[in-house]
Amino acid sequence: NSSLVWLRRDLRVFDHAALHRALQDSARVHCVFVYDTTILDGLPRRDRRVDFIHASIAEVAAELRQLGGHLIVRHADPAAAIPALAAELGVDAVYCNHDYEPQAIARDDAVEQALRAGGRRFVSCRDQVIFEKSEVLSQTGGVFSVFTPYKNAWLKKLEADPSVLAPYHVEPLAARLAPAPANAPALPSLAELGFEPSNLAELKIPTGMSGAAALLEDFLPRIAGYKEARDYPAVKGPSYLSIHFRFGTLSVRHLVRTVLDLMARGAGGEGAPVWLAELIWREFYAMILYHNPHVVGGSYKPAYDAIEWETGPHADELFAAWCEGRTGYPLVDAAMAQLNQTGYMHNRLRMVTACFLIKDLGIDWRRGEAYFAQHLNDFDLASNNGGWQWASSSGCDAQPYFRIFNPITQSEKFDASGKFIRRYLPQLKDLSDKEIHAPWLVPRMLPLDYPDPLVMHDEARKRTLERYAVVKKTD
Ligand code: FAD
Repeated sequence: NSSLVWLRRDLRVFDHAALHRALQDSARVHCVFVYDTTILDGLPRRDRRVDFIHASIAEVAAELRQLGGHLIVRHADPAAAIPALAAELGVDAVYCNHDYEPQAIARDDAVEQALRAGGRRFVSCRDQVIFEKSEVLSQTGGVFSVFTPYKNAWLKKLEADPSVLAPYHVEPLAARLAPAPANAPALPSLAELGFEPSNLAELKIPTGMSGAAALLEDFLPRIAGYKEARDYPAVKGPSYLSIHFRFGTLSVRHLVRTVLDLMARGAGGEGAPVWLAELIWREFYAMILYHNPHVVGGSYKPAYDAIEWETGPHADELFAAWCEGRTGYPLVDAAMAQLNQTGYMHNRLRMVTACFLIKDLGIDWRRGEAYFAQHLNDFDLASNNGGWQWASSSGCDAQPYFRIFNPITQSEKFDASGKFIRRYLPQLKDLSDKEIHAPWLVPRMLPLDYPDPLVMHDEARKRTLERYAVVKKTD
């Protein structure tokens, strides 16, 4: 018997659940990656994520070749291409790893139906997360809606069943990988896929399994200090692994094993458990999306859909200024410049810029969510939506609805010396550490090459409290 492994957001060979299962179940295993035209056709012709996938796929193909296998690559709609390829190869089953996004679930359902019609099986494995869907439930069997009890239950479940972390060793079964046919075509170039190179290489964002491994190696010696360092955007505090989580160039099991091992040896300091909690946030949001698909386009707490956002040309102008980093608030503008230039934004700044758009400018959070989705290298529907709903207070949050960040105090606290701001807004480099957070307050002879603030925070805050009053009545 033979099978086909369909890679999607799991662009690696090692510790790969679906590949391992297929190798165990079948005498001959083919592998395929499909550049999905239903996604790619809607993207700008320069997209860092496409570059990232392209480079990572080259590495997967090379690794499979080294193991005696071969990666088939297609550029098509997978809903048609996968069943067609399965028929062409005459395989008995297609294996892949679970995807939890509503559109991906619909796609997989369609593929499964088509395969079944041809007498083939569709086998899907848990790989992207440690615990999925309904595996972590409350004591009464309910789905969690608040993070901390979810995290505690997650940790308890892992303690009870550490076997979920067991690695899937692919190498011992590699002899079952189907070798490249004699006429195997070369991997498609970016140009053949209809794309031009982005600035990914210039940014030195490491790609593929080797890139993830290098970032992890760089991060582990810093993990003990993560709790302190992670909030300051000018400091190298976090792991920068998010794009690798997104495309599965790393194994989440491997990361959790590594962190738990550090903690067991007393080497993780205060940072390791905090970092582990971030990985649990990721799974929490994936679980929330799976059980609450209405969060795509709607508030997690439906009462928040009654809020009336700014509309019309003035709102469009405010939104454009936010996107382009010309709000007049240096930390917000520097953060947007970071996003626009690199596709990454520090977590603290994602919170600051999202709160600013929603609660200082009164713009519908869904517009900001869509902008992030377009520009973030690590864009993940569940985490991005969760982050935006957190910022708009419409999501799974134990905090009161009226939390409003002050963009000046956030700046003074988290970029006190203005180091991050100066990196992205060089026109402000000569302001003092004290002045740089609110340049309009500084009397000057010559105007700065920098806009005045779009709104005054105190006035905006009052408007937001009024805007959110409609929720207060029903919450
Ligand atoms: P680290 O601090 O090293 O964290 C390690 C990993 O944990 C991350 O790579 C990520 O996989 C996960 N993680 C960390 N924080 C969170 C979180 N709050 N929620 C879920 N997972 C988390 N993260 C995305 O991966 N994709 C997104 O599209 C995304 N959009 C966001 C939008 C908003 C408005 C906010 C407030 C947060 C968003 N996040 C998103 C979460 C977080 O900002 C990023 O995961 C983090 O900044 C990535 O950097 P890192 O890999 O260096 O993180």
